[in-house]
Amino acid sequence: MKYQPVQNFINGQFVNASTQRTMDVVSPIDGNLLSTVPMSSNNDLNAAVESAKTAFTTWSRTPIKERVQVFFRYKTLLEKNLKELAELVSEENGKTYSEAVAEIEKSIELTEFATSLPQLVTGELLEVSRGIECRTEHVPLGIVASIVPFNFPSMVPNWTLPNALALGNCMIIKPSEKVPLSCGRLAELLKEAGLPDGVFSIVHGDVEIVEAICDHPAIQAVSFVGSTKVAKIVYQRATSNYKRCLALGGAKNHLMVLPDAIPTMTAQNVAASMSGCAGQRCMAASAMVGVGNVDHIIDKICDEARKIIPGQNLGAVINKASKDKIEQYITEAEQQGAKILVDGRNTVVAGKENGTYVGPTVIDFVTPEMSVAREEIFGPVISIMRTNTVDEALAIENANPYGNAASVFTQNGGMARYIIDHASAGMIGVNVGVPVPREPFSFGGWNDSKFGVGDITGKSSIEFWTKLKKSTVKWNPEAGVNWMS
Ligand code: NAD
Repeated sequence: MKYQPVQNFINGQFVNASTQRTMDVVSPIDGNLLSTVPMSSNNDLNAAVESAKTAFTTWSRTPIKERVQVFFRYKTLLEKNLKELAELVSEENGKTYSEAVAEIEKSIELTEFATSLPQLVTGELLEVSRGIECRTEHVPLGIVASIVPFNFPSMVPNWTLPNALALGNCMIIKPSEKVPLSCGRLAELLKEAGLPDGVFSIVHGDVEIVEAICDHPAIQAVSFVGSTKVAKIVYQRATSNYKRCLALGGAKNHLMVLPDAIPTMTAQNVAASMSGCAGQRCMAASAMVGVGNVDHIIDKICDEARKIIPGQNLGAVINKASKDKIEQYITEAEQQGAKILVDGRNTVVAGKENGTYVGPTVIDFVTPEMSVAREEIFGPVISIMRTNTVDEALAIENANPYGNAASVFTQNGGMARYIIDHASAGMIGVNVGVPVPREPFSFGGWNDSKFGVGDITGKSSIEFWTKLKKSTVKWNPEAGVNWMS
């Protein structure tokens, strides 16, 4: 085992969980055992909550300009440790080193946004009657929780923690049991940056700890990122306990390719979108709708896909179960009459025979009823459908239950605008394969890709992590009493 067993991080210390139950942490790259992760119990969550309660009294009253100093230092530490953090992300998640570097760079950008929060939460003040002022303030919620998935061990925790903490909350995070190591390093860096003990805690575990978070009376808000199935469970459970909840779910992102699209640029973007992070991105292109004759572009997409080499510029998928599921989807599509133009099944990387790799896969002549057209595959697979008109393409996109992202490739501005207006997704790209809005814009999908109000990052997150206090003040005793007095 390469690393020490993973521990919880409570009250500024790494501590053992109260249970003996653990799970193995295995690297998807070569199948090697990296560590074990504890499946914590309610007792561990309670300990984290108690330390957060104590920390909150001081942290919430620390001026925001002082709080963000921690995040200036945290950002510098992320930069200083970038290489080592990226190596760890790659090792536990299976993505390539350069993808892991990009993930840490994104974590830095998210932190940079948090340092700007004092400029954005200034509140409002107005003399609403003679001598009477109304004022609004963004007040922290208290103890909040963040439950995160396996596909971005650093970036997704950093979607929530810098903003929530800079805004005065104390956070308990539940990492994915598949990739628990990176979060521990983030905790160390936060401590080194001067974050007071108890403001940030990590409680590892699985279903039991997620349920305990949703049920805990002292936790005010829960943010969740993961599959739609679990997002629904968490949203229902947390809100039925009267908590604020924002639960981001899965995705099935459609790219619409029009015949006037620039062939090489389009093909490169489609191939990169479907295969980046081995297709394990909630913003990955998973379905493509070719409008009219786009055969020449599809040929180029296949050329680009063939340049993507597992173990070199393509990482591994998270585990064997995932590899088997992805390959099953491809086989099923083939049996239903789709044509596999580039086949990533049965991929073995020399020297990494126990790694879980799936090669890039391009499936053509897919029909909307096939499971590869309807379901999230979460692997480096693109399923191509064909239509004659943009409205038919939009009908396919609109019928899918998810709504994270959609993109169009065209040189026709009017057509691009039409698709922006009519696609049913929260994030739209025009000639962009992965339309992630960069800070200060916020990240969030629609439909079954998100449950709750607002977005998880950017300015929108201010509303989620704070409550508004409205005060009405009169200091002039001579002012007359009116209906508002
Ligand atoms: P997942 O839903 O299996 O797990 C997410 C978290 O929920 C983990 O911490 C896990 O321990 C916990 N969990 C799993 N099953 C649970 C259950 N039955 N009850 C309570 N908690 C449970 O997701 P994953 O496989 O880790 O991540 C991949 C999914 O996340 C994909 O569907 C992907 O699209 C989605 N995702 C979405 C976004 C977005 O922004 N919408 C971003 C990243 C990932």
